[in-house]
Amino acid sequence: MTATTAYSAQAPGAELQPTEVDLGPLDPLAVEIDVTHMGVCRSDIGRIDNEYGLDDFPLVAGHEAVGVVRAVGTAVDTEQIFLGQRVGIGAIGGSCFACEWCLSGRHQLCPHRDDVILRGMRGAFTTVLRASDWRHVQPIPEAISSAEAAPLMCAGSTVFPQLTRLGIRATDRVAVVGIGGLGHLALQFLSAWGAAVTAISSSADKAEDARGFGAQGFLDSSDSKAMAGAAGSFDFVISTVSGNLDWNAYLALVRPAGTLALLGLPTRTIEIDPMALLPAAKRIVGAIPAGPTENARMLEFAARTGVRPLIQTYPLERIDDALAAVRSGSVRYRAVLERAVR
Ligand SMILES: [Zn+2]
Ligand SMILES: [Zn+2]
Repeated sequence: MTATTAYSAQAPGAELQPTEVDLGPLDPLAVEIDVTHMGVCRSDIGRIDNEYGLDDFPLVAGHEAVGVVRAVGTAVDTEQIFLGQRVGIGAIGGSCFACEWCLSGRHQLCPHRDDVILRGMRGAFTTVLRASDWRHVQPIPEAISSAEAAPLMCAGSTVFPQLTRLGIRATDRVAVVGIGGLGHLALQFLSAWGAAVTAISSSADKAEDARGFGAQGFLDSSDSKAMAGAAGSFDFVISTVSGNLDWNAYLALVRPAGTLALLGLPTRTIEIDPMALLPAAKRIVGAIPAGPTENARMLEFAARTGVRPLIQTYPLERIDDALAAVRSGSVRYRAVLERAVR
Protein backbone atom coordinates (compact mmCIF):
# COMPACT_ATOMS: atom_id res chain seq x y z
CA MET A 1 0.00 0.00 0.00
CA THR A 2 1.22 3.50 -0.81
CA ALA A 3 -0.15 6.87 0.27
CA THR A 4 0.29 9.90 -1.97
CA THR A 5 -0.45 13.58 -1.51
CA ALA A 6 -2.55 14.60 -4.51
CA TYR A 7 -3.71 18.12 -5.40
CA SER A 8 -7.44 17.71 -5.90
CA ALA A 9 -10.21 19.98 -7.19
CA GLN A 10 -13.34 19.42 -5.11
CA ALA A 11 -15.57 21.38 -7.50
CA PRO A 12 -15.26 23.08 -10.93
CA GLY A 13 -12.66 25.86 -10.87
CA ALA A 14 -11.89 25.38 -7.16
CA GLU A 15 -8.46 25.98 -5.66
CA LEU A 16 -6.60 22.70 -5.32
CA GLN A 17 -6.30 20.98 -1.94
CA PRO A 18 -3.57 18.58 -0.83
CA THR A 19 -5.45 15.32 -0.28
CA GLU A 20 -4.16 11.96 0.98
CA VAL A 21 -4.95 9.16 -1.48
CA ASP A 22 -4.31 5.47 -0.82
CA LEU A 23 -3.07 3.86 -4.04
CA GLY A 24 -3.76 0.33 -2.83
CA PRO A 25 -1.68 -2.74 -3.73
CA LEU A 26 0.74 -2.50 -6.68
CA ASP A 27 -0.44 -4.50 -9.70
CA PRO A 28 2.09 -6.90 -11.32
CA LEU A 29 2.63 -4.72 -14.43
CA ALA A 30 2.54 -1.37 -12.60
CA VAL A 31 5.36 1.10 -11.92
CA GLU A 32 5.36 3.63 -9.11
CA ILE A 33 7.42 6.83 -9.22
CA ASP A 34 8.36 9.61 -6.85
CA VAL A 35 7.25 12.59 -8.90
CA THR A 36 9.78 15.42 -9.12
CA HIS A 37 8.34 17.46 -12.01
CA MET A 38 4.86 18.01 -13.46
CA GLY A 39 3.98 19.99 -16.57
CA VAL A 40 0.70 21.90 -16.67
CA CYS A 41 -1.16 21.26 -19.93
CA ARG A 42 -4.07 23.42 -21.10
CA SER A 43 -6.34 20.38 -20.86
CA ASP A 44 -5.62 20.14 -17.11
CA ILE A 45 -7.38 23.51 -16.84
CA GLY A 46 -10.14 22.12 -19.05
CA ARG A 47 -10.60 19.27 -16.58
CA ILE A 48 -10.43 21.36 -13.41
CA ASP A 49 -12.76 24.02 -14.83
CA ASN A 50 -15.14 21.30 -16.13
CA GLU A 51 -14.92 22.67 -19.69
CA TYR A 52 -15.56 19.20 -21.10
CA GLY A 53 -18.64 18.71 -18.91
CA LEU A 54 -17.54 15.37 -17.44
CA ASP A 55 -18.78 16.38 -13.95
CA ASP A 56 -16.55 13.87 -12.15
CA PHE A 57 -15.45 15.83 -9.07
CA PRO A 58 -13.43 15.57 -6.92
CA LEU A 59 -10.56 14.97 -9.34
CA VAL A 60 -6.80 15.21 -9.66
CA ALA A 61 -5.60 16.54 -13.03
CA GLY A 62 -2.08 16.39 -14.45
CA HIS A 63 -0.62 14.08 -17.11
CA GLU A 64 2.99 15.21 -17.67
CA ALA A 65 5.04 13.66 -14.89
CA VAL A 66 8.75 12.97 -14.52
CA GLY A 67 10.27 11.30 -11.48
CA VAL A 68 12.26 8.42 -10.11
CA VAL A 69 11.09 4.80 -10.01
CA ARG A 70 10.38 3.80 -6.38
CA ALA A 71 8.57 0.46 -6.85
CA VAL A 72 7.83 -2.00 -9.63
CA GLY A 73 5.27 -4.80 -9.88
CA THR A 74 6.27 -8.47 -9.98
CA ALA A 75 5.82 -8.76 -13.79
CA VAL A 76 7.83 -5.64 -14.76
CA ASP A 77 10.90 -6.23 -16.97
CA THR A 78 13.52 -4.77 -14.63
CA GLU A 79 16.17 -4.77 -17.34
CA GLN A 80 14.17 -1.94 -18.92
CA ILE A 81 12.43 -0.23 -15.99
CA PHE A 82 14.22 -0.39 -12.64
CA LEU A 83 14.39 1.21 -9.19
CA GLY A 84 16.07 4.63 -9.12
CA GLN A 85 15.65 5.19 -12.87
CA ARG A 86 14.60 8.65 -14.12
CA VAL A 87 11.41 8.20 -16.15
CA GLY A 88 8.35 10.00 -17.48
CA ILE A 89 4.66 9.11 -17.37
CA GLY A 90 2.50 11.02 -19.82
CA ALA A 91 -1.10 11.03 -20.98
CA ILE A 92 -1.32 7.25 -21.30
CA GLY A 93 -0.35 5.10 -18.31
CA GLY A 94 -1.21 1.73 -19.80
CA SER A 95 -3.12 -0.11 -22.51
CA CYS A 96 -4.27 -3.68 -23.16
CA PHE A 97 -1.44 -4.83 -25.49
CA ALA A 98 -3.97 -7.23 -27.02
CA CYS A 99 -6.29 -5.19 -29.28
CA GLU A 100 -5.64 -4.44 -32.97
CA TRP A 101 -4.51 -0.90 -32.11
CA CYS A 102 -1.98 -1.91 -29.47
CA LEU A 103 -0.73 -4.76 -31.67
CA SER A 104 -0.16 -2.35 -34.57
CA GLY A 105 1.72 0.21 -32.46
CA ARG A 106 -1.18 2.64 -32.07
CA HIS A 107 -1.70 2.30 -28.34
CA GLN A 108 -3.24 5.78 -28.19
CA LEU A 109 -6.32 4.31 -29.92
CA CYS A 110 -6.71 1.38 -27.49
CA PRO A 111 -10.28 1.31 -26.11
CA HIS A 112 -8.90 0.02 -22.77
CA ARG A 113 -6.12 2.57 -22.37
CA ASP A 114 -5.36 4.08 -18.99
CA ASP A 115 -5.81 7.85 -19.51
CA VAL A 116 -3.93 9.48 -16.65
CA ILE A 117 -6.10 12.63 -16.74
CA LEU A 118 -9.36 10.64 -16.57
CA ARG A 119 -8.52 8.54 -13.52
CA GLY A 120 -10.43 10.47 -10.89
CA MET A 121 -8.14 11.01 -7.89
CA ARG A 122 -5.08 9.45 -9.53
CA GLY A 123 -3.87 12.14 -11.93
CA ALA A 124 -0.28 13.38 -12.06
CA PHE A 125 -0.53 16.42 -9.75
CA THR A 126 0.64 14.20 -6.94
CA THR A 127 3.75 13.10 -5.05
CA VAL A 128 3.60 9.41 -5.97
CA LEU A 129 2.23 8.37 -9.35
CA ARG A 130 1.62 4.99 -10.94
CA ALA A 131 1.61 3.82 -14.53
CA SER A 132 -0.60 0.76 -14.81
CA ASP A 133 1.78 -0.80 -17.39
CA TRP A 134 5.56 -0.46 -17.39
CA ARG A 135 5.65 -0.50 -21.19
CA HIS A 136 4.18 3.03 -21.19
CA VAL A 137 6.88 4.35 -18.82
CA GLN A 138 9.57 6.33 -20.69
CA PRO A 139 13.22 6.40 -19.62
CA ILE A 140 14.45 10.01 -19.97
CA PRO A 141 17.63 10.56 -22.04
CA GLU A 142 20.51 11.99 -20.02
CA ALA A 143 20.70 15.12 -22.22
CA ILE A 144 17.21 16.25 -21.16
CA SER A 145 16.63 17.68 -17.67
CA SER A 146 13.65 16.40 -15.70
CA ALA A 147 12.01 19.85 -15.73
CA GLU A 148 12.33 20.03 -19.52
CA ALA A 149 11.26 16.43 -20.00
CA ALA A 150 7.90 16.93 -18.24
CA PRO A 151 6.24 19.01 -21.02
CA LEU A 152 7.52 16.56 -23.62
CA MET A 153 5.38 13.82 -22.03
CA CYS A 154 2.12 15.31 -23.37
CA ALA A 155 2.88 18.41 -25.47
CA GLY A 156 5.86 16.77 -27.17
CA SER A 157 4.01 13.47 -27.44
CA THR A 158 1.08 15.20 -29.17
CA VAL A 159 3.17 17.25 -31.60
CA PHE A 160 6.11 15.11 -32.69
CA PRO A 161 4.30 11.99 -33.99
CA GLN A 162 2.41 14.16 -36.50
CA LEU A 163 5.63 14.54 -38.48
CA THR A 164 5.53 10.87 -39.45
CA ARG A 165 1.78 10.23 -39.14
CA LEU A 166 0.94 13.08 -41.54
CA GLY A 167 3.95 12.36 -43.72
CA ILE A 168 5.48 15.84 -43.41
CA ARG A 169 8.60 16.21 -45.56
CA ALA A 170 11.49 18.68 -45.48
CA THR A 171 10.15 20.21 -48.70
CA ASP A 172 6.73 20.96 -47.19
CA ARG A 173 5.47 24.34 -46.08
CA VAL A 174 3.86 24.05 -42.67
CA ALA A 175 1.97 26.61 -40.57
CA VAL A 176 1.60 26.26 -36.81
CA VAL A 177 -1.42 28.04 -35.31
CA GLY A 178 -0.88 29.24 -31.74
CA ILE A 179 2.45 29.78 -29.97
CA GLY A 180 1.89 28.15 -26.60
CA GLY A 181 2.88 24.91 -24.91
CA LEU A 182 2.24 22.75 -27.98
CA GLY A 183 2.92 25.43 -30.57
CA HIS A 184 6.39 26.41 -29.42
CA LEU A 185 7.43 22.75 -29.49
CA ALA A 186 5.78 22.23 -32.90
CA LEU A 187 7.83 25.11 -34.35
CA GLN A 188 11.03 23.60 -32.98
CA PHE A 189 10.31 20.01 -34.05
CA LEU A 190 9.26 21.06 -37.57
CA SER A 191 12.26 23.31 -37.96
CA ALA A 192 14.64 20.54 -36.81
CA TRP A 193 12.82 18.25 -39.29
CA GLY A 194 13.76 20.64 -42.07
CA ALA A 195 10.30 21.91 -43.07
CA ALA A 196 9.62 25.56 -43.96
CA VAL A 197 7.69 26.75 -40.91
CA THR A 198 5.40 29.74 -40.40
CA ALA A 199 3.91 30.70 -37.03
CA ILE A 200 0.35 32.03 -36.96
CA SER A 201 -0.79 33.95 -33.90
CA SER A 202 -2.90 36.90 -32.85
CA SER A 203 -0.11 37.86 -30.42
CA ALA A 204 2.26 39.91 -32.59
CA ASP A 205 4.52 40.27 -29.52
CA LYS A 206 5.37 36.56 -29.88
CA ALA A 207 6.81 36.98 -33.40
CA GLU A 208 10.39 37.29 -32.18
CA ASP A 209 10.09 34.24 -29.91
CA ALA A 210 8.56 32.31 -32.83
CA ARG A 211 11.64 33.06 -34.94
CA GLY A 212 13.79 31.86 -32.06
CA PHE A 213 11.85 28.58 -32.14
CA GLY A 214 12.69 28.21 -35.83
CA ALA A 215 9.76 29.88 -37.64
CA GLN A 216 10.85 31.48 -40.91
CA GLY A 217 7.60 33.41 -41.28
CA PHE A 218 5.02 34.98 -38.97
CA LEU A 219 1.38 35.58 -39.83
CA ASP A 220 -0.74 37.84 -37.62
CA SER A 221 -4.15 36.13 -37.54
CA SER A 222 -5.88 39.38 -36.56
CA ASP A 223 -4.73 40.91 -39.88
CA SER A 224 -7.45 39.70 -42.27
CA LYS A 225 -5.60 41.08 -45.31
CA ALA A 226 -2.47 39.10 -44.45
CA MET A 227 -4.58 35.98 -43.81
CA ALA A 228 -6.36 36.36 -47.19
CA GLY A 229 -3.01 36.93 -48.88
CA ALA A 230 -1.72 33.62 -47.49
CA ALA A 231 -4.59 31.55 -48.96
CA GLY A 232 -3.44 28.24 -50.41
CA SER A 233 0.11 28.62 -49.05
CA PHE A 234 0.62 25.61 -46.81
CA ASP A 235 0.79 21.86 -47.28
CA PHE A 236 -0.11 21.50 -43.61
CA VAL A 237 -1.79 23.84 -41.13
CA ILE A 238 -1.40 22.51 -37.59
CA SER A 239 -3.61 24.11 -34.95
CA THR A 240 -2.41 23.88 -31.38
CA VAL A 241 -4.99 26.22 -29.85
CA SER A 242 -7.89 25.25 -27.59
CA GLY A 243 -9.99 28.21 -28.72
CA ASN A 244 -12.86 28.20 -31.20
CA LEU A 245 -11.48 29.72 -34.38
CA ASP A 246 -13.05 30.51 -37.76
CA TRP A 247 -11.94 27.15 -39.14
CA ASN A 248 -12.93 28.00 -42.71
CA ALA A 249 -10.35 30.81 -42.67
CA TYR A 250 -7.67 28.31 -41.63
CA LEU A 251 -8.80 25.70 -44.15
CA ALA A 252 -8.42 28.41 -46.81
CA LEU A 253 -4.69 28.60 -45.98
CA VAL A 254 -4.24 24.95 -46.99
CA ARG A 255 -3.02 24.04 -50.48
CA PRO A 256 -5.04 21.61 -52.62
CA ALA A 257 -4.79 18.07 -51.21
CA GLY A 258 -3.31 19.58 -48.05
CA THR A 259 -4.20 19.00 -44.42
CA LEU A 260 -5.62 20.94 -41.50
CA ALA A 261 -4.61 19.07 -38.32
CA LEU A 262 -6.23 19.83 -34.97
CA LEU A 263 -4.01 19.20 -31.94
CA GLY A 264 -5.64 21.65 -29.53
CA LEU A 265 -9.15 20.85 -28.32
CA PRO A 266 -11.84 23.40 -29.29
CA THR A 267 -14.83 23.47 -26.94
CA ARG A 268 -17.46 24.03 -29.63
CA THR A 269 -18.65 22.17 -32.73
CA ILE A 270 -16.46 22.76 -35.77
CA GLU A 271 -18.42 24.15 -38.73
CA ILE A 272 -16.87 23.76 -42.16
CA ASP A 273 -18.10 25.06 -45.51
CA PRO A 274 -18.17 21.95 -47.77
CA MET A 275 -16.99 24.10 -50.68
CA ALA A 276 -13.83 24.91 -48.72
CA LEU A 277 -13.15 21.20 -48.22
CA LEU A 278 -14.32 19.12 -51.19
CA PRO A 279 -13.28 20.79 -54.47
CA ALA A 280 -9.60 20.98 -53.50
CA ALA A 281 -9.69 17.55 -51.79
CA LYS A 282 -8.41 18.86 -48.47
CA ARG A 283 -8.51 16.86 -45.26
CA ILE A 284 -9.05 17.63 -41.60
CA VAL A 285 -7.54 15.30 -39.01
CA GLY A 286 -7.43 15.11 -35.22
CA ALA A 287 -4.58 13.95 -33.06
CA ILE A 288 -3.94 12.78 -29.51
CA PRO A 289 -0.75 12.00 -27.56
CA ALA A 290 1.28 9.03 -28.74
CA GLY A 291 2.07 5.54 -27.54
CA PRO A 292 5.41 4.28 -26.22
CA THR A 293 7.31 3.71 -29.47
CA GLU A 294 6.58 7.19 -30.82
CA ASN A 295 7.35 8.73 -27.41
CA ALA A 296 10.73 7.03 -27.26
CA ARG A 297 11.48 8.31 -30.76
CA MET A 298 10.36 11.81 -29.78
CA LEU A 299 12.63 11.91 -26.72
CA GLU A 300 15.59 10.58 -28.72
CA PHE A 301 15.01 13.17 -31.47
CA ALA A 302 14.71 16.01 -28.93
CA ALA A 303 17.86 14.87 -27.13
CA ARG A 304 19.79 14.76 -30.41
CA THR A 305 18.52 17.97 -32.03
CA GLY A 306 18.26 20.23 -28.98
CA VAL A 307 14.47 20.68 -29.09
CA ARG A 308 13.49 21.76 -25.56
CA PRO A 309 10.43 23.39 -24.04
CA LEU A 310 10.88 26.89 -22.69
CA ILE A 311 9.57 26.59 -19.14
CA GLN A 312 8.58 28.61 -16.07
CA THR A 313 8.98 26.60 -12.87
CA TYR A 314 6.89 26.77 -9.70
CA PRO A 315 7.27 24.84 -6.46
CA LEU A 316 4.48 22.26 -6.18
CA GLU A 317 2.97 24.15 -3.22
CA ARG A 318 2.26 27.06 -5.59
CA ILE A 319 0.24 24.93 -8.00
CA ASP A 320 -2.71 27.36 -7.95
CA ASP A 321 -0.42 30.20 -9.08
CA ALA A 322 0.81 28.02 -11.94
CA LEU A 323 -2.76 27.15 -12.94
CA ALA A 324 -3.77 30.83 -12.83
CA ALA A 325 -0.87 31.71 -15.13
CA VAL A 326 -1.90 28.99 -17.60
CA ARG A 327 -5.54 30.12 -17.43
CA SER A 328 -4.59 33.71 -18.23
CA GLY A 329 -2.30 32.66 -21.07
CA SER A 330 0.68 34.48 -19.57
CA VAL A 331 3.05 31.49 -19.36
CA ARG A 332 6.07 31.53 -21.69
CA TYR A 333 5.66 28.71 -22.75
CA ARG A 334 5.02 25.86 -20.30
CA ALA A 335 4.52 25.90 -16.53
CA VAL A 336 6.34 23.10 -14.69
CA LEU A 337 5.81 22.24 -11.00
CA GLU A 338 8.89 21.14 -9.07
CA ARG A 339 9.13 19.03 -5.95
CA ALA A 340 12.20 18.19 -3.92
CA VAL A 341 12.46 14.47 -3.13
CA ARG A 342 14.39 13.51 -0.03
ZN1 LIG B 1 -1.89 17.44 -22.34
ZN1 LIG C 1 -5.24 -2.17 -26.67
